[in-house]
This record gives sequence, structure tokens and C-alpha cells, in this order.
Amino acid sequence: MKHAHLLDDFLSFVKVNTRSNPNNDKTPSFEGEFNLAKKLKELLKELVDEVFYDDENCYVYGLLKKNTENKRCIGFNSHMDTSPEESGENVNPRVFKYEGGDIEIGNGTIIKEEDIVDFSKKLGKTFITASGDTLLGADDKAGIANIISMLRYFKEHPKESHGDIYVAFTPDEEIGQGIKYLDMEHFKIDFGFTVDGSGIGEYDDENFNAINGKIIFTGYNVHAGSAYKKMRNAVRASSYFMSLLDEKHSAEGTKNREGYIHFDAIEGDVNKVELELIIRDFTKPGLEKLNNMLEKHSSETKKKFKGIGIKLNLKDAYSNMKEIIDRFPEVSKVVEKSADNIGLVLKRTPIRGGTDGAMLSWREKIAMPNIFTGGYNFHSKKEYAVLEEMEKSVDLIIEIVKNG
Ligand SMILES: [Zn+2]
Repeated sequence: MKHAHLLDDFLSFVKVNTRSNPNNDKTPSFEGEFNLAKKLKELLKELVDEVFYDDENCYVYGLLKKNTENKRCIGFNSHMDTSPEESGENVNPRVFKYEGGDIEIGNGTIIKEEDIVDFSKKLGKTFITASGDTLLGADDKAGIANIISMLRYFKEHPKESHGDIYVAFTPDEEIGQGIKYLDMEHFKIDFGFTVDGSGIGEYDDENFNAINGKIIFTGYNVHAGSAYKKMRNAVRASSYFMSLLDEKHSAEGTKNREGYIHFDAIEGDVNKVELELIIRDFTKPGLEKLNNMLEKHSSETKKKFKGIGIKLNLKDAYSNMKEIIDRFPEVSKVVEKSADNIGLVLKRTPIRGGTDGAMLSWREKIAMPNIFTGGYNFHSKKEYAVLEEMEKSVDLIIEIVKNG
């Protein structure tokens, strides 16, 4: 259905620059995130019963109190920051009807027809893009706008029964810090959702298990001219080590449900090489297997390059939320019923990445799957949102609340 303020809300949010900064350890990583937080705080004051603003860490919470006893407390979360990969400064949104073909959005940026998912279904729909020199920020301001429209709906329809509805707008998701200071005191939910997915129907309750880390090769340097039998070359050892990984276990050689090992960055010299890497797989045994493969490659390298030290420094980053969500089968049921009620076909595709919901699922042992926003081409100047799909996302979350 139409949601009167959805577009205006969205346009006003994307104009606030909230590009997070991976090189800043502080939360929020960019001062500009406060500007959107303050705006949302004011907006929530008109829409909900309780607003809590953590003005130190830049978190905004809202609670619309229940008007019935027999419904569960449901939470919705979207992140305020945008990707560090593209500029978010002076976003100048354009709104137009899509009539097919490539879209020239300005500054030489073209969204190709072939890059538009199901483009024939999008003819005549309302597109929102940036102007070719910045990202749009539908990731995740479309999610925020959709959540706000859901709250507007219940404000305007006080007779619709609902349980406690919690919302949380968080900073720094794009740099993996989104739930760092998320305080469950202000988000007392039975289950919740991130509204941070992409195209219409997307529903994610599965994501990668993730290990991030570093491998340190230590060598021993002497003058190259007199290196015979003395030098231990960490550069050559690390290069041999990397060559042992075949393409079918690399990021660029895998898709769908396949896991991978990805070498991110490398730095060093004969004495010492630091290799950054990530390991991803949907199952824990799969992750273990990739891990063992690295161990094997490491001992093989040590055997070939005598005297070279190899240290694996690996850390769990996040885990597949499916394991937790499966403990709460009622959540899936609510979502499926809600989708049915509004004639929406759900598309479940495992996320080849992580979400704040995945991290929160594990931290709090609650179900926190992810719902589509209606945005596409995230982290790019070619990012766009489809208003009618955003409306459907609002419809779905309204329905979820009603069926909670
Ligand atoms: Zn996002």
C-alpha cells in the first residue's frame, strides 16, 4: 500500500552524510552519524511512547507500547551509517519513473539495463538514485524509512492490536561495529529483524560463519650476494604458501553455498611478511575443513622452506545465525504467514556475508533474521531504490507486527 511519508522521509535521510570510517576506533566512527541520530530521535518523539538516545555512542531506541496482552515483543533494527567504499557527501537524490533501458544518472554514471534485477518487472516503477558522484544510501536508510513508516501506520491506526514494538537505529554496521554498544535494556524483544536486505521478497535467516585473521611468516635476512644457505626468505615462503590454495577454494572461484579462503592484503620483506585473510563457510565443519587446509599448507611450506616461522593468528568474527534461528521456529511461521497475507513471495538466499542481526542472534541467543528494503547495488554509485518495493517492505513489517 501507499505510505504517505515514506519517500520524503527517505530523501531527507539520504541527504545526511553518515559514511563510516574503518580507520577510526571510536563509536561512532564518523561524527556525521550523530546528525542522523538526532533527526531520528526527534522524529521518534512524535511516533512512539518512549525514546532513548545514547548520545555518547550514537544509538537511538524507540518503544511503541503494546495495546494488547497476547502478542510478542518484536524489534526492528537498521543501521544509520553508509559504506566507507563510496562518498556519502552531498547526496543529491533523483526520483523518476523507470521506463526501461540504461539509466544515465549524472556525472557519467550509467545503471545498465542488464544490471537491473528483473528489469521488466520494474517498468513504470518509481526509482530513486543518487546523481552519479555518490552512493545513494538505501543501505540502510531505506530500512530506516521503512521502519518509520511502520510506526506511522500504527500511530494512525490505534485500533490495530500489537505487542511492544521496539526499534533501534545503530551506527557503524558497515565496519562491523553495529551492535557493539547495543543495549538490550532498550530493546527488550522476543525476536527481531534487521531491515537491511535488498530486493523485494528477500528474507535471510542464514549467513556465513566467519574467521578473520593474519598469517605471519618470519625469515632471516642477510646480504643477497652472500645469502647462500643462510637467508630465510619470508617473501618466497609466503608466495609458495599462497600458491597452494587452488581456485576452487578462493573467493573468486566460489558461489552460492560454497565456502572460501580469501587473501585480502599482504605486506612485508625478507624478514617478515604479514598476510591478511578471511575464511568463510556456511557450516562449522566446512569452516573447520578450510582451517585444516591452511594448517596443512603451513606445514608443507615449513617443510620446503626450512627455518621459516609461520604463525596463524585467526579469530572468529561472526557465525551463521541459522543455528540460533532454528531454535525459534515460530519466527519463520510469523514471517511466512505475513508474506502470504500481503501476496508476497519470499526469496531465501543464504547471505555470503554477515549482518548485525547474525551477531545479535549469537550474542543474545535470539532470532534476528533480515528483511529486504527495496534497495539495490549497495556500496556503489549505481545504488538505487524502488519505492514500490520499499512500500512492500513496510507492508511486510506491519503484517509481522500484527501477526506477532
Ligand atoms: Zn546494510
